[in-house]
Amino acid sequence: MKTSRLTILLLSGILASCGVHREEVSRPRIVVGIVVDQMRWDYLYRYYEHYGHSGFKRLMRDGYNCQQTMINYLPAYTAPGHTCVYTGSVPSLHGIAGNEWMDRNTGEMVYCTDDATVKLTEDGRPMSPANLLVTTVTDELRLATNFESRVYGVAIKDRASILPAGHLANAAYWYNEQTGHFVSSSYYSNPTPAWLQSFNNRNVTDSLLGNGWYLLHNEETYTESTADSTPYEGAFPWEKEPVFPHRYDTVTGPRRNAIVKTTPAGNTLSIMMAKECIEGESLGKGAATDFLTLSLSATDYVGHRFAPNSMEAEDTYLRLDRDIADFLFYLDKRYGRNGYLVFLTADHGGAHNAQFLIDHNVPAGMEPAGTISGINEYLQQLFGLENIVTFTDNYQVCLDEALIARSGKDRAVIRQTIINWLEQQPAVAYTLDMENLWSNTVPEPIKTMAVNGYHKNRSGSIQIIPAAGWYGGNGHKTGTTHGTWNPYDTHIPLIWFGWNIKRGESNEQVHMTDIAPTLASLLHIQMPNGCIGKPINVALH
Ligand SMILES: [Zn+2]
Repeated sequence: MKTSRLTILLLSGILASCGVHREEVSRPRIVVGIVVDQMRWDYLYRYYEHYGHSGFKRLMRDGYNCQQTMINYLPAYTAPGHTCVYTGSVPSLHGIAGNEWMDRNTGEMVYCTDDATVKLTEDGRPMSPANLLVTTVTDELRLATNFESRVYGVAIKDRASILPAGHLANAAYWYNEQTGHFVSSSYYSNPTPAWLQSFNNRNVTDSLLGNGWYLLHNEETYTESTADSTPYEGAFPWEKEPVFPHRYDTVTGPRRNAIVKTTPAGNTLSIMMAKECIEGESLGKGAATDFLTLSLSATDYVGHRFAPNSMEAEDTYLRLDRDIADFLFYLDKRYGRNGYLVFLTADHGGAHNAQFLIDHNVPAGMEPAGTISGINEYLQQLFGLENIVTFTDNYQVCLDEALIARSGKDRAVIRQTIINWLEQQPAVAYTLDMENLWSNTVPEPIKTMAVNGYHKNRSGSIQIIPAAGWYGGNGHKTGTTHGTWNPYDTHIPLIWFGWNIKRGESNEQVHMTDIAPTLASLLHIQMPNGCIGKPINVALH
């Protein structure tokens, strides 16, 4: 706000004479949002006895733990998850309908943060938050403080940095595995600060990786996991078996830089980068509250490769627990214990490996390889059209609408044929016609989740609901994935900690869409403009 000194003097004189003084809105120095990619809620307790006292346990002990936080849309993927956390909104409104989607107007594939109008600071795919259709809580903080607050995003994954930081961010930074550097985009006002260049020049990836990934503790203490080598885990490409230690002293160049994503060192690197950003930009030391969005992506890569029951997953969380303890200690020292506000959540959970469940007599399965070609062959026999189905990611079916229109064939008959074919597959529990959802007999909360996830230009018009325990992945046998409505994919941790947060926990069910309005309420700023959630009562006062 620009007010002349004279006006301030006059006003303060008037206020003083009335016995009123100027009171500041109570806000923390900084907000740090931590999103742990693919962290299932039960990891808080699965490894509880192995955690130290100052990481996850400190958050749970001294913070406010929303035990029953559910994702309330489909599909449970990284880009929609990070977007929901920071917008309080769902894909039907915020437009981030998947990590990628097919634009129904153009028939083209779009990556969630594609933006051809900007440039990357190094060679690579140009990106910005341009595809995001609503504001984030970080945007609202910038607007509320007339841009005095500063917002930065940090993550290994581009989408996990760009989408939380929002439209008005000073910058978002993410990892370029070709060079081992953190990069940004010409979209931002501050894409290549000097501190970032010197951090990149230090090449910390190489030293963090060392010559391998060794277990933190003795092997016998990893009691929450199956044996080190199981058929449910995927070895690294240069390994014979997925066992500790994972050595990579012979791997060089971009392949070596890329390894960091799939080891606990990826989280350590991200937190180091977050501290560099805090120091480099003097965050939390300015006139207004600053906001750092930090996403920890290595947990997701480790989960996809090794699945939840692996020693690799356990070791990753034990090391993350230490990294979080260190980071909280750093924030204590810098801002004082009540000077900062932290929340920790996840963008989605993850399934158990399907074969692991089958081997233990739990119904489960993997979508067989070649589903899309199978359905297209069947449709070609019936309708004489090639490749009617163009895309089946996000558990949705996209059609070549232009091809169908040109052919003059009945679109409704083709769609019903696809639905009937899908309904016969063992992997499929329900197939929802998103253009006529009320004709489906699918139970709640699946119906609402499907509606929340359906964007009319960016989602497939047929939604597949896999049977419980089943997931897509084209016949891939090792590791795991996520994306479905089921609790293992949608039950996420949510812990509030620090400034003005009461101690305690609640078992009342809340939703991922409630996080942004809770932040808005704590900070006394407007809710994001597509927000459908409601604030959770976590404040001390
Ligand atoms: Zn993932």
